[in-house]
Amino acid sequence: MQKLLRIAIQTKGRLNEGSVRLMEEAGISLIIGRRNLVSPAKNFPVEVLYLRDDDIPQTVAYGASDVGIVGENEVMERKENVRIVKRLGFSKCRLSLAIPQQLEYHGISWFNGKKIATSYPGILGNWLKSNGIDAEIHIIKGSVEISPGIGLADAIFDIVSSGSTLVSNRLKEVEMVVASEAVLIANENLPAEKLAVLEDLIFRLESVQRAEGKKYILLNAPNEKIAEISSVLPGMKSPTVMPLAIPGWSSIHSVISENDFWEVIGKLKRAGAEGILVIPIEKMIL
Ligand code: ATP
Ligand code: MG
Repeated sequence: MQKLLRIAIQTKGRLNEGSVRLMEEAGISLIIGRRNLVSPAKNFPVEVLYLRDDDIPQTVAYGASDVGIVGENEVMERKENVRIVKRLGFSKCRLSLAIPQQLEYHGISWFNGKKIATSYPGILGNWLKSNGIDAEIHIIKGSVEISPGIGLADAIFDIVSSGSTLVSNRLKEVEMVVASEAVLIANENLPAEKLAVLEDLIFRLESVQRAEGKKYILLNAPNEKIAEISSVLPGMKSPTVMPLAIPGWSSIHSVISENDFWEVIGKLKRAGAEGILVIPIEKMIL
């Protein structure tokens, strides 16, 4: 029997939805509703292990799971022996220092002699050390953001995304220390057959990621405009051009990126394109 590649993902929380969606986009059907500790996928040689995010780096380092999806912040904090095999682009956040809004901030020396509450003592300790700041670290597990308000600390070092939690606790972000996103981590010593499954998984994830932000575009144009229109549309190799039933006209197909979408559409219209259709792309295999 083939050995299953075991993937640890967060049971519930800010990483769970993105992790489950990624598995599904890669064609891995999880047996949902059965959140047992371990559940096999229906159609791919993997099984999913549901854990708290804190435990994922260690579980992968010790080989109780082969790979895992976790925030880069946890990987940095735990310093376990794991390999980051892929950045996944979701659950983006940053770890920042924040102080009470009403206080004046004049640079990092502000933190000298201060008490900073955090759940990330490792990352904070390194940052303080490398910046030559002598501050006290107060380790706290949850609700870090309330600590200055209740007199437990002078400042906090915590996860920030939109910043709204800081605002509602009358704090202001003054230093960003590291950026984080979900990453796929792997055990350093996977056997060859599991590495092969991991490579297949990465290939699938890359096909999905490549398609993100890309659109399939179809349009009609008079034949004498094909050259001009093609120069605006790079396509994967070059645009596909097919004759329409009306003589002198063609249908042109290509792929464009969402970033320069409106600019390209404008150029196409000016070049004489008509009947422009834009369709989402699910996966892109190069
Ligand atoms: P668990 O119960 O599994 O221990 P948790 O409460 O420690 O979960 P979550 O709040 O679910 O953790 O956050 C998990 C990860 O998601 C964080 O380590 C971070 O990488 C990322 N994250 C946290 N907050 C945000 C946010 N506001 N926006 C985007 N990503 C975030
Ligand atoms: Mg946690």
